[in-house]
Amino acid sequence: MGIGGKVKKAIFLDRDGTINKLKFNQDLNELEPPHCPEDFEMIEGAVEAIKNLQRNDFLLFVISNQPDHAKGKTTIDKLQDVHKEFERQLAASGIEISGFYYCYHHPNGIVKDYSFDCDCRKPKPYFANKVIDEYNINRTASWFVGDRESDIICGKLAGLNTAFLTEGQEKLKAELNEDINASNLLEAVEGILKYNIKGICQQ
Ligand SMILES: [Mg+2]
Ligand SMILES: [Zn+2]
Repeated sequence: MGIGGKVKKAIFLDRDGTINKLKFNQDLNELEPPHCPEDFEMIEGAVEAIKNLQRNDFLLFVISNQPDHAKGKTTIDKLQDVHKEFERQLAASGIEISGFYYCYHHPNGIVKDYSFDCDCRKPKPYFANKVIDEYNINRTASWFVGDRESDIICGKLAGLNTAFLTEGQEKLKAELNEDINASNLLEAVEGILKYNIKGICQQ
């Protein structure tokens, strides 16, 4: 922290299943991220939750794995169209995200250029650490929030507090020791704000 400087705190948000809804694919019988802008729909309360973080001076970053082009399920152009719709909806709500970080790779994909064991796929903390260094973020005042085990592991590896969203499809192994369990982002943010007021993670 700089002399007289304020602690810079950040929230690192997963995207699919945390901010926006997953979409049921009938052919594959599974939930998947939206592949076109029309399918991009915010989860109830997510916008309100993010605005609340913004009001409380958190810098906001989105870190998301997007392997569906690597898996041959969609194109990079489509993924970028979905991202543009995401940005459009955020802007319409007055939300400012300081950075979006997408990993388009998958170790077992079928599209050659995107199918390898990259450095940026969660749970690897590459993007989180990059942001923390670039913005001089205080790790102990900051959080990773997501609906997958990989989000919690990523947050832990980056030395952040972690909040797990239990409405998703994954159950967490007990030994992961996430700091907060919440059903959705709105509830997680209430927990985060209380936690920080108590001073447990402020320096
Ligand atoms: Mg997710
Ligand atoms: Zn990657």
